[in-house]
Amino acid sequence: MTVNPFWSVCVVIGMTKPNTQLSLKPSPEARYSTIEEVLSRIDKIDPKRYDQTRNYLDGAVTWLSPYITHGVINTQTVASRVLSKHPEKACYRLLFELAWREFFHRMWQERKEEIFCDLYNKQEHVETDSVPQAIVEASTGIHVLDEGLREVQQSGWMHNRLRMWVAGIVCNIAHTAWQNPARWLYYHLLDGDLASNTLSWQWIAGTSSNKQYIANQVNLNIYSRSNQHDTWLDVDYDTLARMATPEVLKLRVTSIDFDQEVPGEPVPGQFAGKIALRSLWNLNPDWMARDPDVTHILFIEQQQIEQWPMASHRWAFILHWVDQLGIDVWSGSVEDLARLEAGGAQFVREEYPACAHWPGAVTERSFHFGVPENDYRSFSQFWKQVK
Ligand SMILES: Cc1cc2nc3c(=O)[nH]c(=O)nc-3n(C[C@H](O)[C@H](O)[C@H](O)COP(=O)(O)OP(=O)(O)OC[C@H]3O[C@@H](n4cnc5c(N)ncnc54)[C@H](O)[C@@H]3O)c2cc1C
Repeated sequence: MTVNPFWSVCVVIGMTKPNTQLSLKPSPEARYSTIEEVLSRIDKIDPKRYDQTRNYLDGAVTWLSPYITHGVINTQTVASRVLSKHPEKACYRLLFELAWREFFHRMWQERKEEIFCDLYNKQEHVETDSVPQAIVEASTGIHVLDEGLREVQQSGWMHNRLRMWVAGIVCNIAHTAWQNPARWLYYHLLDGDLASNTLSWQWIAGTSSNKQYIANQVNLNIYSRSNQHDTWLDVDYDTLARMATPEVLKLRVTSIDFDQEVPGEPVPGQFAGKIALRSLWNLNPDWMARDPDVTHILFIEQQQIEQWPMASHRWAFILHWVDQLGIDVWSGSVEDLARLEAGGAQFVREEYPACAHWPGAVTERSFHFGVPENDYRSFSQFWKQVK
């Protein structure tokens, strides 16, 4: 039997062996599933394996984030279904990660537009605000990064660890202001979420946390189970922290073409009656069952979509769920809605910070964890109070 020398060393230092079982990573077609299939994916989660392997690229993560981001399911459903099958102790890590999402959304509810600017600290050592060309072209020379960068641009899937590496390299090794790269990644991600994406980039860039995140080649090799050496990232952490922007990351893309085809009919001139006004982040089928006599409409706010464009695979995902709901799509401005309201339409919508300026009566969103009683600036302060 041949023994991979890398793994013999890892076993000695106690690292997890490569997964022999397949991770739950969905095939590209799986994103076009039904709600029953999504719920059955939740029921298949093994929280213990999740805990042991989530940091590895082939780990047993849930890949549920596109459904959570678009409100097809919510964190409360995920948490309660998993807790109904497994002891609470076994679910700790998964609940902890679900809490990260809720933390970002509570921050957004509270700090509103402020989350789109440096939150607590100014980003240090910034040289430019333009994304490195090698990131966009997936040509950094680091194999695992380039593969991940190609995949996210083709399909929209990207593991958390890869996102951390990409953001750490862009912000803290290529000394780039976090905003444009965050917008670039949001465009490609299938789960692009304004709060989770923006605040994760801020956490990595050190503008919402006490230090900047960086990872070196050794870290990449461990969590991707690869064995690349002699790269510009193959240095110790002291060297990495003091390193000038590597040659391969110096060339920048000064303007990125965010192509998108926005679906939807113009908002009609008149509409009498009650309308459940849904956003891109609120595609849950439950609401349909609760309010069957109301006309459900997906409203796409043009101005918002121009500010936060999304790639075609994301639009295909959204339209698939719109199709499942069997609802119409309107696209226009908030003034169009105000005009309809003045003409007798009655809107009802779910709370969501990006839609705070939309008309209508607002109902609460579901969260698994409560609102902390005391102030919190960091996730640990949040978690201490809600867990
Ligand atoms: C730079 C960067 C950008 C990110 N952008 C987004 C984004 O646009 N949308 C998004 O949903 N997440 C984002 N994340 C968080 C995280 O990467 C994804 O939520 C996770 O990879 C989704 O995969 P999963 O469903 O398999 O997660 P799992 O590990 O299976 O976790 C289950 C659920 O918990 C939540 N969750 C898990 N980890 C995190 C986390 N670190 N932060 C927030 N929520 C988490 C998600 O809703 C996820 O679906 C980003 C992280 C980084 C570092």
